[in-house]
Amino acid sequence: MRLLMVIIDGLGDDPIDAFGGRTPFEYARHHNIDKLLKKGSYSEISICGSDFPAESLGCILRLLGVEQKDFPLNRAYLELLANGRDISEYEMVLRCNLASVDEAGRLVSFNAMGLTAKEMAEAAAVCNKLWQGIEFLHLSEYRNLLILDNDRQILHDCRIAPPHESMGLNIDMLLSDLKARSLLLKTFIDETTEKLKPFARNGISYRIYPWGPSERKLLPAFHDLHGIKGAAVCKAEIVRGIARALKMPVPDLPTATADIDTDVCAKAGQTIKFLKDYDFVVTHFNGSDEAAHRYDYTGKADFITRIDEDFIGPVLKSVKEPLKILICGDHVTSCVTGKHSAGNVPVIAAAVNCDNNAPIIGGYHDIHKFLMGASD
Ligand SMILES: [Zn+2]
Repeated sequence: MRLLMVIIDGLGDDPIDAFGGRTPFEYARHHNIDKLLKKGSYSEISICGSDFPAESLGCILRLLGVEQKDFPLNRAYLELLANGRDISEYEMVLRCNLASVDEAGRLVSFNAMGLTAKEMAEAAAVCNKLWQGIEFLHLSEYRNLLILDNDRQILHDCRIAPPHESMGLNIDMLLSDLKARSLLLKTFIDETTEKLKPFARNGISYRIYPWGPSERKLLPAFHDLHGIKGAAVCKAEIVRGIARALKMPVPDLPTATADIDTDVCAKAGQTIKFLKDYDFVVTHFNGSDEAAHRYDYTGKADFITRIDEDFIGPVLKSVKEPLKILICGDHVTSCVTGKHSAGNVPVIAAAVNCDNNAPIIGGYHDIHKFLMGASD
């Protein structure tokens, strides 16, 4: 028996007026999923409930059977792992956005809006000098990480609002608690503010915004959790970090993008390949979440249709062995609000090439029972 979990990020949604009150999933064409449903089951459940925030970090760890006590604090540590780095227990890592502020010092973007990708790289290079006690790691565009000595005060006591939730607020006020608690970070923030001044134009200047402190957290290996060999097919950094933390192989997919323009066929090819060698494969699609954040319900529905046509179809055609397949969302990302929520997400469970019937999934425990329970 082979096992496949397909996570369509942010699959849950609200009814869309332009779709006659249907959600993007209900509106999308998905004849391969419909075929699975003839023998399988369809349910709607909340993965996180009220246990933790409706974010991919916790929801995907839960889908993969990791207990909440083992979740890392914030996602920076897993982003570090995704980039092939690790830290010791004596260090911590913070996310570090390049943010745009107006002349009054108010945050106008969390993603360096106004700069080209090339200018963002130049701005990161300007900040990336040899700091005493801080390692600056540029990831992509506006995204960077900071590695420094572990400081319990910053990790657990400091109030640092996420920049994307703080639009219109004064950046010095937002960073004041962090600066008050760490002379090192105060110096870093003040010096990079000076260094970034030449990038200012049209009343907008650019600032470094450290937030989301995270520390080393050893997660159980997927094999130790379930006694089966698992592998991951994904591009989104947080999911690559989860796969690395669970010691699941996660290959580089050069044509995947973690958005709706990703190479769905390449993901199908890699998944089919993995299903030959591994008991369990998790394949993650991120574009649905990104489209919903942009209020792009058409883009989200079209992407679901492409996943059905170019992924589900070819995988079902290629795999001749008995296969249990589960297709689900991790959380709701609403095309109406552009935000995540803890509401119900569609869950499709089916078994193919065998006589097994798929159970109705009433909660995340049923997913574990269906996919990772005693193999038959
Ligand atoms: Zn999201």
